[in-house]
Amino acid sequence: MASLEASPLERGLEWDTPLFLMARAQFEQAVPHADVSPMVVERLGFPERAVIVAVPLRRDDGSVEIFPGYRVQHSTVLGPTKGGVRYDPEVSLGECAALATWMTWKCALLRLPYGGAKGGVRCDPRALSPRELERLTRRFTSELVREIGPQTDIPAPDMATNEQTMAWMMDTYSMQKGHAVPEIVTGKPISIGGSVFRREATGAGVVMVAERACARLGRGLAGRRCVVQGFGNVGGVAASELHEKGAVVVAVSDVSGGVYDEGGLDVPDLHAHATEHGSLEGYDRGERITNEELLELPCDVLVLAAREDQLTGANADKVRASLVVEGANGPTTIEADAILAERGIPVVPDILANAGGVTVSYFEWVQDLGRLFWGREEIRARLADKMSDAFDRVYAVAAEKGLTLRQAALVAAIREVAAALEARGLYP
Ligand code: NAD
Repeated sequence: MASLEASPLERGLEWDTPLFLMARAQFEQAVPHADVSPMVVERLGFPERAVIVAVPLRRDDGSVEIFPGYRVQHSTVLGPTKGGVRYDPEVSLGECAALATWMTWKCALLRLPYGGAKGGVRCDPRALSPRELERLTRRFTSELVREIGPQTDIPAPDMATNEQTMAWMMDTYSMQKGHAVPEIVTGKPISIGGSVFRREATGAGVVMVAERACARLGRGLAGRRCVVQGFGNVGGVAASELHEKGAVVVAVSDVSGGVYDEGGLDVPDLHAHATEHGSLEGYDRGERITNEELLELPCDVLVLAAREDQLTGANADKVRASLVVEGANGPTTIEADAILAERGIPVVPDILANAGGVTVSYFEWVQDLGRLFWGREEIRARLADKMSDAFDRVYAVAAEKGLTLRQAALVAAIREVAAALEARGLYP
């Protein structure tokens, strides 16, 4: 891209890992369709701010170990930054930079007054005891106390972090401020200001956009044959919502493999089994299939809700779904995307399809700031409005410019941030 050729940032910085370069490549592919100024392109191509901290942890045996921690804030144009905190051996500056960039697009697409952030600690969470995880979380929060804040950067759970992690972060931050600050994190327990319907929000949002997409393709969701990969927070809820809307869930899977019934699975019974046994392993009311076979089943809607890199150059030509919906982040590789586009199979992209989670996180923050809490039905209705509105805007850009839904979602998101950046101008 001509405008970036001379940029010193372009010549390489510490966040130039394959994942960040992928996020950049997607941005550069979308930018020519977004009609935005070179200033916008320069500014949004890189995170605004990145922090590396060394987090000391006293282990249960009395020894002290130091773990690297990161927080990357991609854009503050629309408001405070928002994004998860993950505990994983692969956490790096580049990974956080890429994920923060995608969070900016996701928030902008849903018209949430946020930019994207991501952070985490490079550690093996399975090797840490619950008490060690608590001390690590509290110290990491303290190290970031100048970076995070209800009006600057609001963390949320991500890989290997959960409601309890958010409760420790909220408590640590509140202790340092001298009063309770529930609005510092989202995804926390309801008892300290968490929101009802947050846990179900991502899976419910996936089904809201799937329904909208089916309607655009001239069909309803009722009676549609659906396959769901992943039976966790996102996939499990998506399967229930599909079932409740009258769709026929013919197959589901988790890390232990899949189960298939041509006539439709009993989703509540699957949940009962998963709750009792911890996974779908041993479920015998249907044919056992592998995850590879599941992705190739003939169906109307294939929901990918497990993890990244599931549809690749090796299997995208075998997909027999009429519509793919990305509940997970990055489940379709760039090669698979091209193959599916060539075959005319629409893919509702992650930044749109799984945005229900961050949207209800935004509702949680708004409720915390106002100290006024909404009911479940109100939250569901507000989420449905936001998801349908975003889907319709993406669909309109795709139709107008002849783009895939993924390209159109990025273009729509970039335009949102660009309009704000143009209005504010470049300081000073
Ligand atoms: P989770 O851990 O609750 O569930 C993941 C599920 O996928 C589990 O059932 C697991 O057994 C299964 N799985 C793992 N590897 C698999 C494989 N190879 N084949 C089939 N199944 C496999 O996680 P989650 O919160 O449901 O997140 C799933 C995806 O959705 C992730 O990509 C995550 O980043 C994304 N996401 C989650 C949220 C949220 O609010 N939880 C929001 C946005 C995006």
